[in-house]
Amino acid sequence: MRITVLTLFPEMYQDFISTSIIGRAIKNGIVSVDFVQIRDFAHDHYKHVDDKPFGGGYGQVMKCQPVLDALNSVKTEVSYSMMMSPAGNVYTQAKARALSQKDHIILLCGHYEGFDARINKHVDELVSIGDYVLTGGEMASMVIMDSVIRLLEGAIRQGSTEEESHENGLLEYPQYTQPADYQGDKVPDILLSGHHAKIQEWRTKQSLLLTKQVRPDMFEKHTMTPYEKKIWDKIQQEENE
Ligand code: SAM
Repeated sequence: MRITVLTLFPEMYQDFISTSIIGRAIKNGIVSVDFVQIRDFAHDHYKHVDDKPFGGGYGQVMKCQPVLDALNSVKTEVSYSMMMSPAGNVYTQAKARALSQKDHIILLCGHYEGFDARINKHVDELVSIGDYVLTGGEMASMVIMDSVIRLLEGAIRQGSTEEESHENGLLEYPQYTQPADYQGDKVPDILLSGHHAKIQEWRTKQSLLLTKQVRPDMFEKHTMTPYEKKIWDKIQQEENE
């Protein structure tokens, strides 16, 4: 996979692309990441990429010409382009999975008051990472890159992404590590039992209970597997006793 980021601040990505799992995936050739400096496409002497909004108002708006020239310099037939925008479709794990199947994704990062609205129709999608406003799209693009790259084959141990929160419509069960007793706070006995079927049952139960408590919206939408249904019925039976 190839990821191209269009930004005014490529220097913000230095640590991100050289550290931990992301750094290793790039080094191992699982993904290639390149940056396009939008300012390089400005025509005037001062390399302006933004101007005042028509109709008045605060701040500066990023101009069509440098942004679209930058975009067109990297777009190919296989590219999937996304504009980072608080007014976009809200990003999800399902979207990360879908993007991990693409050959080339382009992430267009705004700054200031955002983009001239005529740019919107030149990208495949506007994407928001949540209902809040960031200074620029760089952090949003890193969120997308991180969540996609870790799903690529070879980036992390196979199978370890499949049981995680949001993968199957539920939040992940609680995890523990050594020591089994930390200053009197003990790990649930079942996890030390070595009884795999019972551990699986406990984990599914915790996953269902946690999702219902923390994210009732997700719980409502979730279609339980027959196994989850069996465990959920058991929980309800216990509650009624
Ligand atoms: N004036 C814009 C509005 O009210 O919708 C906000 C512009 S914001 C200050 C500047 C840039 O940050 C945006 O163009 C976008 O690229 C990025 N950005 C801000 N919040 C974002 C979010 N929640 N998701 C994705 N990108 C975001």
